[in-house]
Amino acid sequence: MAARVGVLSLQGDFARHRASLESLGVDVRAVRLPEDLEDLDALVMPGGESTTMLRLIEDYALREPLARFVRSKPVLGTCAGVILLGKDGQHLPSPPLGVLDISVARNAYGRQIDSFSTEVDAPPLAGRFHAVFIRAPRLAPPGPQVEIVARRLPEAGGEAVGVRQGKVVGLCFHPELTSDTRFHRWFLTEVAGLDLRSPASPERVPLTAATRDAS
Ligand code: GLN
Repeated sequence: MAARVGVLSLQGDFARHRASLESLGVDVRAVRLPEDLEDLDALVMPGGESTTMLRLIEDYALREPLARFVRSKPVLGTCAGVILLGKDGQHLPSPPLGVLDISVARNAYGRQIDSFSTEVDAPPLAGRFHAVFIRAPRLAPPGPQVEIVARRLPEAGGEAVGVRQGKVVGLCFHPELTSDTRFHRWFLTEVAGLDLRSPASPERVPLTAATRDAS
């Protein structure tokens, strides 16, 4: 049976995560209500606006079920998703879920116009990854309980931009906005331990208008 992965679909670029996951042969379910979390193998929390997402999480009575899910099952958070998973954050309407033991500074690279993309080192991929940062959060230097899975290149300061703590992964950038699905594949197979059936088409997500205009 195909792996069944939820994508939190309250706000943000959840459609792009769906496209990346479906290209890997995964059954994707949009998560908006508590019952949508039932029987999922893993969950992805997209980029977007963390304040809006937190408000909607409360409005949709998702806080408790989501907090339970992320404590026991694999979860990947990208950009705003990292803010939701971290242990603190500024100007949030309610506390984040706190399963990543890391301090997060929101919008710390500047405003939307300061968004950028760059190569990062990605040890679990044994190479580099082209990372898109959009009003991205910055992470405080993580403690030893947190594994660094992506970092800026040495000449850019080498700071951590992706972390893993057990089954929880947080990336400050947007792998779903590129056609490169290596981080999704690694999360599904190595972190979540899922078997992927071979995708019907090559493992590249076609670049579309949605890709270019997202976020
Ligand atoms: N700046 C956003 C926030 O604080 C995150 C940006 C993003 O997800 N691209 O929620």
